[in-house]
Amino acid sequence: MRVFILTTLISILAVSSAAAKICPRCGRDHLPDDPPKTEKEELKTEDAKQEEIFLSVSRDRFSTSYVEIADACDKILDRLEVRYGKPRVWKSFPIYFKRYTGNGIAGYTQYDGGVVREVVVYEDLDVAIGGTLDHELTHAFFFYLLNSNFDLFLNEGLAQNSEYRRRESLRQTVYRRYSNGEFWDISRLYGRNSYDGSLLIYHEGFSVVDFLIARGGSLWIAAFLDELVKTNDVNKTLERFYGYKNLSELQTAWKDYIDNGQDRQTVKAIK
Ligand SMILES: [Zn+2]
Repeated sequence: MRVFILTTLISILAVSSAAAKICPRCGRDHLPDDPPKTEKEELKTEDAKQEEIFLSVSRDRFSTSYVEIADACDKILDRLEVRYGKPRVWKSFPIYFKRYTGNGIAGYTQYDGGVVREVVVYEDLDVAIGGTLDHELTHAFFFYLLNSNFDLFLNEGLAQNSEYRRRESLRQTVYRRYSNGEFWDISRLYGRNSYDGSLLIYHEGFSVVDFLIARGGSLWIAAFLDELVKTNDVNKTLERFYGYKNLSELQTAWKDYIDNGQDRQTVKAIK
């Protein structure tokens, strides 16, 4: 099948029961002085202009338009289950591949009232696999796995980590930005729940999650997040799962990881 257009920006649209929230996600070519459009109304208007899409393929976890998309999504969700565990509750949601509208957004995930309302991708399927599609499905997956729209910094870090085709270029970006002194203290990003203007939440989030997975594996970070969501005590949970007393200790170890070439093989595993 032929689907749509290339772009490099992704957003995740998160709507809590209390207040609507928009979470833009930016990609490779984004310039810090040219932030993506993030207003909900803009998304809505653009969606309204688009053609109606029929969801003719229904699978257990989602519905979508073509068998090729459904097969790719099943594969990604299966892989997420193997990596992080199986969510106890899951409500099927639509996955749309839509025509790119030129607004610099490559996809988003919308949560509302305790369910994933929709996942939208504005890229061609071939381009989205290993990138945007994996990123957005990771948001949807963790929403159900943790029964929560949890910390944005770790949430985006996990989603970025699923973009396996971009992992190496992301590590290069991490090294460049780290070397340039652009990174913030983790404590400034953790718990922030809003996007910074220069994509640190993506690049630094990716790297911190990359490091935590290197230390304890994927199931371990899922267990860590589960407890973190339940206790909301980051220091206690970090110490219990990774042996760091606080974010500052994590930061020191994580910076060593970057200094040592971001090589998962050289990281001391948790006993
Ligand atoms: Zn995202």
